[in-house]
Amino acid sequence: MLTIALSKGRILEQTLPLLEKAGLTIAKKELSSRKLILDTSLTDVQVIIIRATDVPVFVQHGAADVGIVGKDVLLEHGSNNLFEVLDLGIAKCKLMVAAESKDKLKQNTLKIATKYVNLAKRYFQNKDQSCEIIKLYGAMELAPKVGLAHCIVDLVDTGNTLKANGLIPLEHIEEISSRLVVNAASFKTKNVQIKSWTQNIEHSL
Ligand code: AMP
Repeated sequence: MLTIALSKGRILEQTLPLLEKAGLTIAKKELSSRKLILDTSLTDVQVIIIRATDVPVFVQHGAADVGIVGKDVLLEHGSNNLFEVLDLGIAKCKLMVAAESKDKLKQNTLKIATKYVNLAKRYFQNKDQSCEIIKLYGAMELAPKVGLAHCIVDLVDTGNTLKANGLIPLEHIEEISSRLVVNAASFKTKNVQIKSWTQNIEHSL
């Protein structure tokens, strides 16, 4: 049995059509049920749908053989014990620094609101910028407005959310898209099954 961990939300909407093209469908009844492990059209493949941040954890520990997750999550979490085998080119966006104006970034110690604590720390350390990271789980765009932070580090797609909250994208950190990752042990023990399945996906891109 091959277990695939999928990220809930925005990525899932774009992942399901891709999987279908590769010959793996999940019945609507399964998707709308409260089951946490879903059957698929392939008898030897099951799917779990979990929070994006949990996908690398499940794959690292071998609880899932394969995962589909954003590059942002991988960069933040680290890639121990898993291989990134395919860029799926979906859920594309940019990881950016944004603030109300460029001047706001001119601080001795820059206060940054983000959920990407490790990523942001690395980025500003590389620039020799002293910083204080304020971890938030959502609504990052609010932080500069209420004086909680000088800037934010977050994903930007259309830029509408930044604009609506009076923020300007100022520095580009990374191009982001969803990646297919494989548990290192599964890569060896289930090599034939994983290879044939990932090739199907690759051909349907
Ligand atoms: P937008 O207004 O289109 O720039 O979208 C920005 C909002 O959507 C922010 O709250 C982001 O965290 C979120 N977002 C944008 N792209 C993605 C993505 N590919 N995956 C997850 N969240 C995203």
